[in-house]
Amino acid sequence: MSNHYRIPVYQPWLCGNEEQYVLDCIRSNWISSKGSYITKFEEQFAATIATRHAISVCNGTVALHVALAALGIGPGDEVIVPTFTYIAPVNAVVYCGATPVFVDSDLQTWQIDPDDVYRRIGPRTKAIIAVHLYGHPAPMDALTALAREHGLFLIEDCAEAFGARYQHRHVGTFGDIATFSFYGNKTITTGEGGMVVTSDDMLAERVRRLKGQGLAPYREYWHDIIGYNYRMTNIAAAIGLAQLENASLFLERKRAIANRYRQLLEGTPLVFQLEAPEVVHSWWMVSVLTSTAHDRDLLRSHLRTAGIETRPTFYPVHTMPMYSHRYERHRNAESLGLRGINLPSYPALTHEQIDEICYHIRTATERFSTNHDSITVFQSSSVIQ
Ligand SMILES: *Cc1c(COP(=O)(O)O)cnc(C)c1O
Repeated sequence: MSNHYRIPVYQPWLCGNEEQYVLDCIRSNWISSKGSYITKFEEQFAATIATRHAISVCNGTVALHVALAALGIGPGDEVIVPTFTYIAPVNAVVYCGATPVFVDSDLQTWQIDPDDVYRRIGPRTKAIIAVHLYGHPAPMDALTALAREHGLFLIEDCAEAFGARYQHRHVGTFGDIATFSFYGNKTITTGEGGMVVTSDDMLAERVRRLKGQGLAPYREYWHDIIGYNYRMTNIAAAIGLAQLENASLFLERKRAIANRYRQLLEGTPLVFQLEAPEVVHSWWMVSVLTSTAHDRDLLRSHLRTAGIETRPTFYPVHTMPMYSHRYERHRNAESLGLRGINLPSYPALTHEQIDEICYHIRTATERFSTNHDSITVFQSSSVIQ
């Protein structure tokens, strides 16, 4: 969301009732974390996902923290997480005093690999976090089976996957509890914001208590557990409600954008994230792989020169300084993290802009695709950034 690019990688689309609802908050004086937009946003979000409870919080990272806390995850526990992910779910495990155990991902769908999950289950394992990365659902059949067989909690991080479906069900309805983010570059946004969803009444009650300073329901200003202030404001919820009203438009646009990219880039050496047959990909960010890390850097700088912003795919978390003390390799994650690019994917992106982006991509790939040398992904300069 940088201003320096002619075509940013992402920007929100506030094309509906956002302004009217926010104005209503200001004029009615309901600007804090109580108010009718909170209730409406939570109710309509729960209905959209088809779950019993949706509990608003102030961002997607605290949504994960409070979900893990509600499950009682704590010191001595291990939680299995993909290393190829945004860092938030890993940090949330550490906030609880538990230990993240990294697993590798599938090279085709880029999602957590259930076989590797199985290998890492041990006596201390308490939970698995499935991250639906870039809008593609994680393999929920295999993960729910593993969780059931081994008595583990299953948490879904749906931050990037609003609108994604697995066997016709919306993501966030498979695990014990699931979380969403409404950061400015997510499919629907509240500026900063998040949601915890669950169909379990007791878990929902625990999340509500924890996000509101551990307030006891039976006495005023009496706190009987250590909670947090993770509340969303009515203003943020007002924006969220307006965004939710346009969600199907956003998702339709994003699918059309993905299709156009795929069509126009056919025959280039770029490889798209595969859409598995049993899923509906929500195409949060259309993402491609180059053959080498070197090609990735060349393509990104070519696009930068043309005023087009891109993002690198996530560097695997196990390679970051605070998580790299245990020497481990997760080869697919390392490969995906060094060769991937997220292309501009915001819903208001026009066909003409996509055509222009693809023209520049073609020019760049024609230049580099002949020269693969002996560069391996680990010798690339992009390792040290
Ligand atoms: C964005 C994101 C989060 C965190 O959301 P914030 O609202 O930025 O705190 C968590 N997990 C994933 C996979 C994300 O992409």
